[in-house]
Amino acid sequence: MPSDNADKVVLITGINGYIATHIGLQLLQKGYKVRGTSRSTSAKGHLLAGAFKGYESQYEHVEVEDIVASGAFDEAVKGVHAILHTASPVDFTLKTVDAFFGPAIGGNLSILESAKATAGPQLRAFVVTSSIAAIMDRWRQAPDHAYSEADWNEMGESVARREFTAPVAYGASKAAAERAVWKWVEANQPFFAVAAVNPAVVTGPPVSWPTTPDKLNTTLLPIWNIYSGNNVMPPQIGSAGYIDVRDVARMHVWAMEHPDQSNGERYLMSNGKAPPQAAADLLREQFPERDIIVGEPGQGYTKDYWFPQGEASSVSTKAYKALGVPKFITYDRSVLDTVEAFEKQWPGLAQNFKHKN
Ligand code: NDP
Repeated sequence: MPSDNADKVVLITGINGYIATHIGLQLLQKGYKVRGTSRSTSAKGHLLAGAFKGYESQYEHVEVEDIVASGAFDEAVKGVHAILHTASPVDFTLKTVDAFFGPAIGGNLSILESAKATAGPQLRAFVVTSSIAAIMDRWRQAPDHAYSEADWNEMGESVARREFTAPVAYGASKAAAERAVWKWVEANQPFFAVAAVNPAVVTGPPVSWPTTPDKLNTTLLPIWNIYSGNNVMPPQIGSAGYIDVRDVARMHVWAMEHPDQSNGERYLMSNGKAPPQAAADLLREQFPERDIIVGEPGQGYTKDYWFPQGEASSVSTKAYKALGVPKFITYDRSVLDTVEAFEKQWPGLAQNFKHKN
């Protein structure tokens, strides 16, 4: 284990989230100390009994009940080497634009203020988990626009305020929250580096588990539903860009470990396009004994899961370069690893066999 990381404490907010636990685990494996924050009192025990088992001596936990409250993170940031801020509402059952905007923007600003005021001069990097939803703007751009880090979702907020849907409000909240970060950086010229990671729809095996599949996060639940025989095709999220959670975690760690290169940068992460139909087709082929929704086979994506001609694309050239890879984990690998993990966690729970013996 690399010992030069042993004295470095990395703060991860929303530590019991799907992406955050992956980041936490990668950092623990690299020998860092991890300090996680959560709203719930049960998160610490849950993580130390599960995803972070064996890393008890490297892990600290702080409860932050209201991430928007002024000074909420003053204690949590003290003495940290880096801050990875992932906490933000990703809950498509929320009913108002402000239910997304409040914690998304307020959380970003509150933790930046705490970082500046109380973290200490050893703080090197602040990485915020933004989203491709902060970049893509299907209301304003041509349908075949090639998106990059230079683009912003500008119309989402007015669309969501005119006619509320949770996914549009969510995307708009990510754009507003990331914009608030860059505005804060411009106004405050912080002594630490600031970077944003902008992932597409994240899949891949979780390392921390809810009690039951219905509590899986917003982007894993559709995979479970397809795999376990639900006969409704889940709605496509955004423009169905895909990315594996392990790559998303690696990108956060890289941005944190390369503050001179990542400072002021956004990293779009989308490895191609894969709507729920692609998961259904793949899982039907891999598990012919299971009853899995048919939908419209082959529709809405290409066999290599790249961006179909004439549709929006979002190529992660910058992120590939940063991580030194030609491409990220493939969609097949991501989904098959996910369902393998489902079976390990909940053996036999998915009962959708065509012929029961
Ligand atoms: P999870 O739902 O697993 O995690 C969300 C995290 O945010 C949880 O830790 C949750 O805490 C915390 N959170 C949510 N609402 C609040 C709130 N009001 N106050 C404090 N904390 C809150 O989802 P993900 O791991 O997927 O999401 C993590 C981050 O990644 C988010 O910022 C999300 O926008 C971003 N992202 C996710 C993508 C995806 O496809 N999954 C794609 C692009 C970006 P608690 O456990 O207490 O509820």
